[in-house]
Amino acid sequence: MSEHTSTIRWDVDEDGIVLLTLDDPEQSANTMNERYHRSMAETVDRLEAEREQITGVVITSAKKTFFAGGDLNDLRQVTPADAQRFFTGLTEIKAQLRRLEKLGRPVVAALNGTALGGGLEIALACHHRIAIDDGRSKFGLPEVTLGLLPGAGGVTRTVRMLGVADALLKLLLQGQQLRPAQAKETGIVDELVSDREELIARAKEWVKANPDAVQPWDVKGHKIPGGTPSNPRFAANLPAFPANLRKQLKGAHYPAPHNILCAAVEGSQVDIDNALVIESRYLTELAAGQISKNMIKAFFFDLQHINNGGSRPAGVAKYEPRKVAVLGAGMMGAGIAYVCARNGIEVLLKDVSLAAAEKGKAYSEGILDKAVSRGKLTAEKRDEVLARITPTDNAADLAGADLVIEAVFEDVSLKHKVFAEVEPVVEPDALLASNTSTLPITGLAEGVSRRPDFVGLHFFSPVDKMPLVEIIRGEHTSDEALAKAFDVVLKIKKTPIVVNDSRGFFTSRVIGTFLNEGVAMLAEGVPAPSIEQASAQAGYPAPVLQLMDELTLTLPRKIRNETKAAFEAAGQPWASHPAEQIIDRLVEEFDRKGKSSGAGFYDYADGKRTGLWPGLAEHFPATPNELPFTDLKERMLFIEAIETVRCFEEGVLTSVPDANIGSIFGIGFPAWTGGVIQYIFGYEGGPEGFATRATQLAEKYGTRFTPPAVLTDPSAREKLLGA
Ligand code: NAD
Repeated sequence: MSEHTSTIRWDVDEDGIVLLTLDDPEQSANTMNERYHRSMAETVDRLEAEREQITGVVITSAKKTFFAGGDLNDLRQVTPADAQRFFTGLTEIKAQLRRLEKLGRPVVAALNGTALGGGLEIALACHHRIAIDDGRSKFGLPEVTLGLLPGAGGVTRTVRMLGVADALLKLLLQGQQLRPAQAKETGIVDELVSDREELIARAKEWVKANPDAVQPWDVKGHKIPGGTPSNPRFAANLPAFPANLRKQLKGAHYPAPHNILCAAVEGSQVDIDNALVIESRYLTELAAGQISKNMIKAFFFDLQHINNGGSRPAGVAKYEPRKVAVLGAGMMGAGIAYVCARNGIEVLLKDVSLAAAEKGKAYSEGILDKAVSRGKLTAEKRDEVLARITPTDNAADLAGADLVIEAVFEDVSLKHKVFAEVEPVVEPDALLASNTSTLPITGLAEGVSRRPDFVGLHFFSPVDKMPLVEIIRGEHTSDEALAKAFDVVLKIKKTPIVVNDSRGFFTSRVIGTFLNEGVAMLAEGVPAPSIEQASAQAGYPAPVLQLMDELTLTLPRKIRNETKAAFEAAGQPWASHPAEQIIDRLVEEFDRKGKSSGAGFYDYADGKRTGLWPGLAEHFPATPNELPFTDLKERMLFIEAIETVRCFEEGVLTSVPDANIGSIFGIGFPAWTGGVIQYIFGYEGGPEGFATRATQLAEKYGTRFTPPAVLTDPSAREKLLGA
């Protein structure tokens, strides 16, 4: 017998075991949408009505994954005005799961694939969870990464299963996604099997062997592992929870972890039904707020748009690079060689001497050895990856390469020289890419004979950790080359954004405004610790002066001087920035050039930061009039947002998802904003509200804050920024 409700199939076998197969007919993955909601209501009604004929229930899915979670399209529509409707919907979903776990018959989740968020929450409402040990599927409650919390019982049930501390640390606060073996170890999966057939058979066996299954929390006297605040030992440790969270977030405003903590701790002090209500309240507050909307937009919709090829020219066949010539085995070249080899591409790593090239290869060895020693990689796999890297000092060895990535010193004539040397040797249609961070791509392309095949591939340091690659389209770059570059970036498991050629492209140009703004505050007499604190509280991953030290003070000076010369050559006026005098004085008067030279805004001992340089307070004394702290935070966010809009106006940027993701992944724009353009749209009052505030900042701090006119002109804005 097989019948359809709209998303749940019902099959019953001769033993009376009902197999419920989740299978939303209108989507490739199951989500907690309206159809699920209705189907689950009908299914639970029927289970209760036919209880006497039922031995137990097995829930599985017909999709590749088990269940994808909450419906993010629905979730991002929630507003404060319809928060009550949302709360009621949540209450109903939870009531269904409660009825399922109190059916009086064993219910088993047969996890045929990934179960994240809402998917895992359905499984947690089952008495037993079995998953396929495929090494790939993921289990977890990643809601926090979207500014939300698992509100279909995820907080409440994991707290009861694992205890408050483990639930928070192992699942909820970081949204870890666990592979099958880790999920079993953590305790959210009970058993692993080898394949789908075994999965269902084993689930049914469990049903038959456990006719009286009940949830532990429905047994009288159930105690939460590790205790609750009513236990003196637990209570004594309680203040450490918010303190640690604050430390981790460095004071930045992320309401989701805060609400998760509250829901877990408060919920642990009441029975499960009341805990579920508390959880719903905390989720409703998050869902109705702006930050979850920002994060859903960036980390789900924008990322999906990019990964689906939003900025990849259409109609170009997929490119599979086989052999890459990496020119320069320094910091960047070594990292690029590693990520290419790790992702299956043969690497010819060239430097001026064999020793330098081998040193570049040793960098990969270091990373791989560490992974082996931590049990994350087998020794065979390490050897396999290393065997793909061939160091050389001879251009003739680069024959057969179908991709070139150049990472020699930042010098136009050197770059021209190395391309002239390798172009005749590599494949005649090899993609030619430069990792320059500042030099215009069109000018670099003048050094090759096949200019349409030349493109910028701007990696970020450290290459093995940073997820972004900025692809730069030069004046002559063909669609085919751009599409190939896009495929290369996906192949090495990075996120590509595409920008048009200009000085500093998008990322270097915009991060420059952030750094300058921080330094300008010092010129105005804001104490350095306040500047650092303001950037941390705004949500930047590294405080602004600390970051400047890491990037060196000499690099922005060099870029500034080159830009200034280019402006003067073009007859354009050059407006100097208040940060310049500070940087010049630090470098020229005090010989403080940044971290690599052992002294910058901070002091260093053995390469380690020891504290802000006391001389800052002496040579750049604080003024008695304190500027509002909100101004300090917003100046950094605003100046980057305004510069990004200018990048759109000048045609450097053409894609809002690329701008948002590029800003978060590449230059540390705070994740809670949803990225640099989403920050403008999510600001109180929308783009108009942003423009009003920018005008205030311009009046107080300088015309660089004058909002671009496009922000307050809806039709121009729609054309430029799509909304
Ligand atoms: P680096 O100084 O660490 O490495 C440069 C390497 O190029 C050296 O090993 C050098 O021996 C080698 N080299 C010089 N001439 C060569 C030649 N003729 N043939 C082969 N190799 C040669 O520099 P880096 O930090 O790796 O930067 C390299 C490029 O990447 C620059 O264009 C830089 O702007 C860009 N970049 C750097 C960063 C960063 O954070 N450092 C980030 C993005 C892009």
